[in-house]
Amino acid sequence: MPETLDNLLAETRDRLKAAGIESAALDARHLVSGLLELALAALVTRGREPVSDEDAARIRAAVERRAAHEPVYRILGEREFSGLKLKLSKETLEPRPDTETMVECLIPHARRIALKKGSCRIVDLGTGTGAICLALLDAVLDARGLGTDISEDALATACENARRNGLAGRFETLRSNWLEAVNGRFDIIVSNPPYIRSNVIPDLEPEVKFHDPAAALDGGEDGLNAYRAIASDAGRHLEPDGVIGLEIGFDQKQAVTALFEAHGFHMLYAAKDLGGNDRVLVFEHDPAAPRV
Ligand code: GLN
Repeated sequence: MPETLDNLLAETRDRLKAAGIESAALDARHLVSGLLELALAALVTRGREPVSDEDAARIRAAVERRAAHEPVYRILGEREFSGLKLKLSKETLEPRPDTETMVECLIPHARRIALKKGSCRIVDLGTGTGAICLALLDAVLDARGLGTDISEDALATACENARRNGLAGRFETLRSNWLEAVNGRFDIIVSNPPYIRSNVIPDLEPEVKFHDPAAALDGGEDGLNAYRAIASDAGRHLEPDGVIGLEIGFDQKQAVTALFEAHGFHMLYAAKDLGGNDRVLVFEHDPAAPRV
């Protein structure tokens, strides 16, 4: 007798609970629905339907990976971000819902600039899956984007994600360490750089420290290395009425603001993430500072 969907879901949840996975019930639903390509609601409405032995074996293999703390969306190989389906790969950070805050903060700027100039040029530094840039391009039709990354694997994934989401015509990639290989000026400079202090990395959850790439997490001794590199070059690459959007760690608002102020920028606003932590800073040129 083949398993029913209901039985397999219960088995999955129990296995994950026994492995100490806190979000066992939720993860079970996402894993099973993702692997069977079913909507979450179908898990309820089709619960009595049989699951083939082959699908049951696929699910059980995936459950063992989750029981060993591999994140659900790494196992599925893709996740949704701002309405786009994004493929993940070895050297890309898994896009977080908190980072959608950045997209929401920048859409009004991209629209304002596109309306005024007929286009809006965006550069996303350390683009990873392409998440932030592609979500902005999806929301603002007159915008064009350049995604940079130090990792070739990430650049290939970002390109693939642009193709999958019908955005390849407005998205390019460039291998670059922050702004080093970038030419020209942009209306929006955006980045979710690595910002975790090196000595905190060993304390992160196994899902993060063993499965997100270290290069996307580790911000150096004080967590600020990437911001320093970006701040020192951003003035040469930002259009006069452009903005810089940065994701930050929960306790980095003051330090990152001070760094950018020292390079002639002014903080327009700060936004909090879904958990109420400071997460996004938006800067513009300080009108009083000399231009580079
Ligand atoms: N937000 C991620 C985390 O908390 C870190 C991402 C980053 O360093 N940019 O795991």
